[in-house]
Amino acid sequence: MSSLDYAKEMDQKDPLKDYKSKFSVQENIYYMDGNSLGLCSVDAKDSLIDVLNEWSNEGIKIWGSRGGKFYNYPQFLGEKMSKLINARPEEVVAMGSITSNLHQLLATFYHPTKTKYKILVDELNFPSDIYAVKSILELKGQNLEDSLKVIKSHDGKFLDEQDIIDAMDDDVAIALLPSVLYRSAQVLDMDTITAAAHKRGVIIGWDLAHGIGAIPYDFSKSEPDFAVWCTYKYLNGGPGSTAGLYVNRRHFGKSVGLKGWFGCTPEKQFVMSHNFCGAEDARAFLQGTHSMLAMAPLEGSLDMFLEAGMDKLREKSLLLTDFLVKLIEEKLLSLGFTVGSPLEHKNRGGHIALEHDDAYQISIAMRKEGVIPDFRDPNVIRLAPVAFYVGFEDVYRVVEIIEKIAKEGKYKEAKSDELVY
Ligand SMILES: *Cc1c(COP(=O)(O)O)cnc(C)c1O
Repeated sequence: MSSLDYAKEMDQKDPLKDYKSKFSVQENIYYMDGNSLGLCSVDAKDSLIDVLNEWSNEGIKIWGSRGGKFYNYPQFLGEKMSKLINARPEEVVAMGSITSNLHQLLATFYHPTKTKYKILVDELNFPSDIYAVKSILELKGQNLEDSLKVIKSHDGKFLDEQDIIDAMDDDVAIALLPSVLYRSAQVLDMDTITAAAHKRGVIIGWDLAHGIGAIPYDFSKSEPDFAVWCTYKYLNGGPGSTAGLYVNRRHFGKSVGLKGWFGCTPEKQFVMSHNFCGAEDARAFLQGTHSMLAMAPLEGSLDMFLEAGMDKLREKSLLLTDFLVKLIEEKLLSLGFTVGSPLEHKNRGGHIALEHDDAYQISIAMRKEGVIPDFRDPNVIRLAPVAFYVGFEDVYRVVEIIEKIAKEGKYKEAKSDELVY
């Protein structure tokens, strides 16, 4: 179960094995950082070139060509993304970034009253999400100390779902939570937490940054109020590719917080009226002219997800992280490493947090040996064996390299002023 032979056999019978050749995987490089920036694929390149050619050939007519495909690109890509989370197509658009989409959604949904005014977050969430929440609280003149309710972690790694539910008191207006914690890869139970929020009249939004493309979601079951995600991590849309925004249809028609002309109903957009007439669906949240070039690679990439299927991708991802954990347990625990990710499948996202007191220097040494991990302060090396382009033998080699680095101890010479993303 932890031998090189096992790895080779698993690669042999992997139903997704042919996808690897579509990605720009460099020779002798083990890319374990797809949870930060997914790799480029031939398909992503092709769809980008297609948009460049269309612009080149059509000029301004690109807005109307192919039946308005590119004018409708936010919706066109939104429909593809809706399939990854089993939402309705009209509930999803491609737009902005996680951060800007959160600003948009908080500006739309946060209407504090004297008794219901708190925003519930957790202390392990990504900073930008918290900055967005603090911004809206400041804009609305709220006292930050009082209005920001922060769920604490007991161990600095994981959240207790019951703590989250217990914190949803009557004074909580909105809860914003990560579906997968970016450091430990803990998966939160979206269905249960969302149901609890709704029972208590709390608007709930999810950040799927570390979940979408790694884990299948069923929004038709959980029906949260809103969600955001980026597309450059597991979705392989390219650096800074356009993000995703979901708004449940029960909120269609609500006054949008930060309006722009692309949020107009298409029939009215070019009437150029100063009275905003919002689209009837998630398109109402769109703002300015969308960046087709930042969206185009996503088209080719998303089609690969729809072809391969999220269930298959998740199945392989779990087998890969199982294998990784097993190898860590066998070869690395005795060298001062620990596993900082949940072991149960239902609680585990797409990466494994490998902890070590010298994680930073080890991560630098790994890069020198051809393994690309990422490092998260203070002691975590994140390893993401992405199902599309990482195989079982790759995982085996990665652990072998880490073992060698730790045993030799040379990593201690690694300079600490080197830049690690
Ligand atoms: C990656 C990530 C972000 C990044 O936000 P951008 O606006 O896309 O730069 C925000 N939140 C979480 C939870 C993330 O994992």
